[in-house]
Amino acid sequence: MTTILPGAAMLTLLNPKEWNAETCAEVNARLEHASAGHIADWAVATFGQDLVVAGSMQDTILPHLFGTRLEGVDVLFLETGYHFAETLATRDAAAAAFPITIVNAEPELSVAEQDAQYGKDLFARDPNLCCQMRKVEPLKRALGNYRAWVTGARRVDAITRSEMPVVSWDAKHGLVKINPLALWDDQSVEDYQATHDLPRNPLTSQGYPSIGCAPCTQKVAPGADPRSGRWAGQGKTECGIHV
Ligand code: SF4
Repeated sequence: MTTILPGAAMLTLLNPKEWNAETCAEVNARLEHASAGHIADWAVATFGQDLVVAGSMQDTILPHLFGTRLEGVDVLFLETGYHFAETLATRDAAAAAFPITIVNAEPELSVAEQDAQYGKDLFARDPNLCCQMRKVEPLKRALGNYRAWVTGARRVDAITRSEMPVVSWDAKHGLVKINPLALWDDQSVEDYQATHDLPRNPLTSQGYPSIGCAPCTQKVAPGADPRSGRWAGQGKTECGIHV
């Protein structure tokens, strides 16, 4: 794999005056095959504290990758109110292990308020509306405070992500989107976690290869599509934050 060290000249080359779809595509072409560490170096040098790292807390790779480069970096957690206890514990373990600042993005309505207004268990009747209120809108509000966001999305996660760039212009949110792990496979994830002895969400070794909210995440049989346990049987594959 080619690696690109973002030295001073390279950083100048990779820092257009204006960020838009075209300039992001140019940067993506230069960074697409760089290592995650070099992409993180570039992101930190370019955006500094104006970037936020999205943390699903399925693993703690991004909190480690950026926390070790940018002390106090904001790590955004979509606190839907429906997470597994193990996911919340992984978030807390990451906060204790790395010099990061957890930013909990919360919906306007608590679960009890949503139940009162829309009926109990909206996720079972209208998961798109539930995701819109508990993930999509809180994310949009939170991203308004930054110039770039970093996600742990990978091309192998889903067919909808198979051509996902490393750097792109996120027109929906009006900022640069950086996916430093885009080209990673499952072995890359394993290797990084083992090398750095990172806190892990224990559910990943209990049959949950893709972890979201508890009511919408089921165990997956060995060898099955890792995301087949998300919104199983509901014809839904994405919560709406990456598309
Ligand atoms: S994943 Fe399920 S519980 Fe979580 S916000 Fe979406 S529909 Fe609601």
